[in-house]
Amino acid sequence: RTVYLNGEFVPLDQARVPVMDRGFLFADGIYEVSAVLDGKLVDNAAHLARLDRSLGEIGIANPHDAAAWERLQADLVARNGLVEGLVYMQVTRGVMERDFGFPPAGTPTTVVMFTQAKKIVANPLAESGARVITVEDLRWKRRDIKSVALLAQVLAKQQAVEAGVAEAWMVEDGAVTEGSSSTAFIVTRDRTLITRPLSTALLPGITRASVLRLAGEADLRVEERLFTVAEALEAQEAFYTSASSFVMPVVEIDGTRLGDGVPGPLSRRLRALYLEVARGA
Ligand code: PLP
Repeated sequence: RTVYLNGEFVPLDQARVPVMDRGFLFADGIYEVSAVLDGKLVDNAAHLARLDRSLGEIGIANPHDAAAWERLQADLVARNGLVEGLVYMQVTRGVMERDFGFPPAGTPTTVVMFTQAKKIVANPLAESGARVITVEDLRWKRRDIKSVALLAQVLAKQQAVEAGVAEAWMVEDGAVTEGSSSTAFIVTRDRTLITRPLSTALLPGITRASVLRLAGEADLRVEERLFTVAEALEAQEAFYTSASSFVMPVVEIDGTRLGDGVPGPLSRRLRALYLEVARGA
């Protein structure tokens, strides 16, 4: 496997980052993940725009413009012969003797990219539907920044793993914020699609934005508002979205079966519509 590290393509087992890297010591960095389907990047311009915004919000200069990022991504995809999966990108504030304040201006960032093969389309979970549990949202107040500080999500996902389910939906003040690595949606019994509005309380999902656009084009009723766990348990359908799962139907929340206990028609339709977009990319 070939990875990208600071301007070079190197074998994974030879790529090394210094102990004093601020990503390692402070989680002082930003990451981004784009899907690859049929060897092509999906929704990539939006992912690169979010990367640029996240970096800007924490005062790290973006090392590349979008065109340069995309060339590097495409090069890495080709070198690894990746047909379907993910491209991971990470930029940290670089290497400096451990001290909380920023390094001097001009300190080079650490830039890492790697690919991961993954079956996103032919994922059996999308056929059966995923089960989720709800957990407390333990995160900080700037969840709109795609920071590599993911301890709360690690702990949330591990609870899901231990419960034998696919995802954990994080809850704050009784309302679902989002999944540990996905955006949460429900479909009410009167067939309205509900997802939380964007704010600093959640990550602006790129797949979320595409799915909302597709729902609008298909004339579906959409409301961007908070929804509670109680409402989710009463929902007709639910699903979550992310670059790594596209649209994943949810059939059970905290052990409560939704609707007929199989992926619902609206969830399936939006998954199919998103797949078309992804394929046409
Ligand atoms: N919310 C969180 C907390 C995430 O970590 C992710 C993806 O990793 C998402 C939402 C989904 O975002 P996207 O659709 O851009 O992959």
